[in-house]
Amino acid sequence: MTTYTLALIPGDGIGVDVTDAAMQVLDAAAARFGLGLDKTRFDWSCETYLATGRMMPEDGIDQLRSFDAIFLGAVGWPATVPDSVSLHGLLLPIRKAFDQYANIRPHRLLPGVEGPLRAQGFDILCIRENTEGEYSGAGGRVHQGRDNEVAVETSIFTRKGVERILRFGFEQARARRKHLTSVTKSNAQKYSMVFWDEVTRELAAEYPDVTVSPMHIDAMAAKMVMAPQDLDVVVASNLFGDILTDLGAAIQGGLGFAASANINPDRSVPSMFEPVHGSAPDIAGKNIANPIAAIWSGAQMLEHLGETDAAAAVLAAIESATARGIGIRPGLHGTQEITAAVIAALEENA
Ligand code: ATP
Ligand code: MG
Repeated sequence: MTTYTLALIPGDGIGVDVTDAAMQVLDAAAARFGLGLDKTRFDWSCETYLATGRMMPEDGIDQLRSFDAIFLGAVGWPATVPDSVSLHGLLLPIRKAFDQYANIRPHRLLPGVEGPLRAQGFDILCIRENTEGEYSGAGGRVHQGRDNEVAVETSIFTRKGVERILRFGFEQARARRKHLTSVTKSNAQKYSMVFWDEVTRELAAEYPDVTVSPMHIDAMAAKMVMAPQDLDVVVASNLFGDILTDLGAAIQGGLGFAASANINPDRSVPSMFEPVHGSAPDIAGKNIANPIAAIWSGAQMLEHLGETDAAAAVLAAIESATARGIGIRPGLHGTQEITAAVIAALEENA
């Protein structure tokens, strides 16, 4: 039996509810597919911060290093701990330490779910560059009196960074419908985005089986709404990916359905899987949170571990549940009801 070691960081608020839900489903999948899941729980959260002054222990990163994967619920409790503290004390250091440079978000309208659009065939995989670009933090302010003040924010795009995220996109496209949309704004940003287009063309020569469509971010936003059926894998920089994935989450029915993975394809370090939503203090601990985003993130984790059949079975079980009307609207079913329905479907589909 193959056994995987998983580090669980349920975190704050509904992070705890949805992590429990996702692990119930993964345990059921593990039983069906004969896998071992060896889970270690880390109670690192805003409560930890209030008690100790740190979101995680000083050697937190080292404690995580040897795991096969990390699953994170949600971190943040703005009423008592500023978001900047919770984010910079836990989530961002993990992403950075393990160089999880590809942020992957599958956006698909599940059967039965009513999105805000009558989008047909909404099934795209967004890949956001997670380490550089517009969020590099380079820049400054020049004070020459209030009227002449200047603020500069510099985007940094390295060949290494651009090449690896695009290559990741080409590989994903190869495993799906073989179409890659590379999102830029190279008509207006003449250095960084032109460079991105150049690297895209270079790599396209290595992937003749993948059709490449370069697209500007403005046109892309419209296309996601008007003709998403033309899209398959979408690769974008940090800022553009940030914006497009919020749009994608909204079109797929909201945060309750938005899954994500922070990947470093190099298996010597753990990748991290987390629903896109935050800790949602308003609904924490009330059996209201939709666990589908977290369960789907769990399926992404199985996929990354190489357990393709188990991952597909979890996704099929989510689809069977929503096709029967389970969890398709906020407030319709509780966290536990949705979880139980997915597990039942997983067992029925066997
Ligand atoms: P963060 O600051 O951590 O990114 P956020 O403030 O952007 O988080 P969330 O905490 O994710 O947002 O959620 C915003 C609101 O959306 C919540 O208050 C909640 O009402 C709703 N929500 C979020 N996730 C879910 C979920 N899984 N199920 C149901 N409702 C949810
Ligand atoms: Mg917030």
